Amino acid sequence: MRSQSSLGEFDIIEKYFRQSSPRQDVVLGVGDDAALVAAPENSQIAISTDTLVEGIHFFADIPPRALGHKALAVNLSDMAAMGAEPRWVTLALTLPEVNEDWLAQFSKGFYDLAEYFNVSLIGGDTTKGPLSITVTVHGVVPSGKALRRNGAKPGDWLYVTGNLGDSGLALAHLQQKLSLTPQQFELCLKQHYYPQPRVLAGYGLRDIASATIDISDGLANDLRHILRQSGCSASLKLEQLPLSETMTEAVGLDQSFQLALCGGEDYELCFTVPESNKGSVNTSLSYSGVPYTCIGQLASGQGEIKLQYQGKPYQFEPSGWDHFN
Ligand code: ADP
Ligand code: MG
Repeated sequence: MRSQSSLGEFDIIEKYFRQSSPRQDVVLGVGDDAALVAAPENSQIAISTDTLVEGIHFFADIPPRALGHKALAVNLSDMAAMGAEPRWVTLALTLPEVNEDWLAQFSKGFYDLAEYFNVSLIGGDTTKGPLSITVTVHGVVPSGKALRRNGAKPGDWLYVTGNLGDSGLALAHLQQKLSLTPQQFELCLKQHYYPQPRVLAGYGLRDIASATIDISDGLANDLRHILRQSGCSASLKLEQLPLSETMTEAVGLDQSFQLALCGGEDYELCFTVPESNKGSVNTSLSYSGVPYTCIGQLASGQGEIKLQYQGKPYQFEPSGWDHFN
C-alpha cells in the first residue's frame, strides 16, 4: 500500500535529508541558501552530475532503497574514474507525491552508501513532478593527479576492475529479452541495483594509470572514449574478459561477450597502464581489495577495437551490438 502523507517540502528535507553529523569540512550544510565547505590546500575540486529519470534510467518498480543507493553510486563512480575522493553531494529530488515509506527507504539506500564513503549531503532541491533524481558530487584530488580519458599511449596495457555484464544480464531479464532462473536473477540483480563504486581503486590508480573511465554504457562504448581522446586503438582478448560463472552458465560465452561489451551499468573502471607501471598495478590496487584483469593492449589508431578470441579475430553478428540497447 502506498501511504500518502501531508508532509510539506521543508518537513521532508528536515526529516529525511538533514544529516545529523556531517563531515568536519562542512562549514554550513542543509538549511541556508547555499552550503559552504572547506576545500583542502593543494587540491583540485572534481565535480560531476548524473540524473536518473523514471522510465528511462529505472523502472517504476525499482525498490526505493536500491534507487537511493544507485543515484549516489553512479556519481561516486565518476569520482572513482577521476581518482578523486568524494566528499560532498547535493540531491535534487522531483517527487510525484509524498510517500513516507518510499522516502524512508530511498534515504536509507542513499545514506548507507554515503556513510560508507564518508560523503556528506550538504543541500539540494525538492520539487513536485514526475519522479527524477539528480545528484551532484564534489570531490577532491591532489593537484595534477586526476585520472583523465586522454592520457593513454600506444603500447599501454588495458585493464578492467570486477566482472562485466552481470548488470546488463539482470536488465535483459527485467526487459524479458531472456529468462534466468530465480537464483541467477538474484545474483545479477544485486549488481544492477547495488553497484559498488570503485572509489578506493581510483586512489590506487592515481600514480600508475595513463587514462581511466568508469563503465556505464558497456566496455566497448566507454573504452572508445579513451581511445578516441588518446588517439589509440585497442586489441581485446575476449577469453580474458572477467565474466561471472552465473552469466556464462545462464547465456553461454557469445552472449556473455555481448553483455560484457555492450550491456551497460557495470560501474567498473576501465584503465590503461604504461608498460613501465605494469609491475606496480598489484601493489597499487591490493589495499583497495578490488579485483582487476588485464584484457588487452593499445596501439596507435582512432578508436578501433579489435576483438580476438583464442588468437583469432572474433566477429559479432551486426545485430549483436545493438541487441541490448
Ligand atoms: P532555496 O529556496 O533558497 O533554493 P530551498 O527551500 O529549496 O532553498 O531549500 C532549503 C534548504 O534545504 C537548502 O539548504 C537546500 O540545499 C536544502 N535542500 C532542499 N532539498 C533538499 C534535498 N532533497 N536534500 C538535501 N537538501 C535539500
Ligand atoms: Mg530551492
